[in-house]
Amino acid sequence: MGGGASTVKPTTVPERLAVNSFRVDEEESHIVVDQELCRTTGSGAAIIAVCPAGVYSEQDGLILVDHAACLECGTCLAVAAPGALTWRYPRGGFGVSFREG
Ligand code: SF4
Repeated sequence: MGGGASTVKPTTVPERLAVNSFRVDEEESHIVVDQELCRTTGSGAAIIAVCPAGVYSEQDGLILVDHAACLECGTCLAVAAPGALTWRYPRGGFGVSFREG
């Protein structure tokens, strides 16, 4: 029998994520946080904890947003209190393109 079988190299999640490409909207973020509601409802800590891309961080009591890394999964929306987070898909042509690694 021929040796046509291909070898599939197992990959880790970070390796798989690394093959995605991003076209970043430098003029407009598709994510806006309400600092006060994030603080008073605990939404800030929640979105930091659940985001798989590390988009959110906290510095000096403020929630920082690195929208360029967003995977558009919507998980942060599911855990944020109403009004604490405004999230929409990036404008046309911008955002993540998923590729299989
Ligand atoms: S949509 Fe997903 S990747 Fe983007 S900021 Fe929310 S949790 Fe993070």
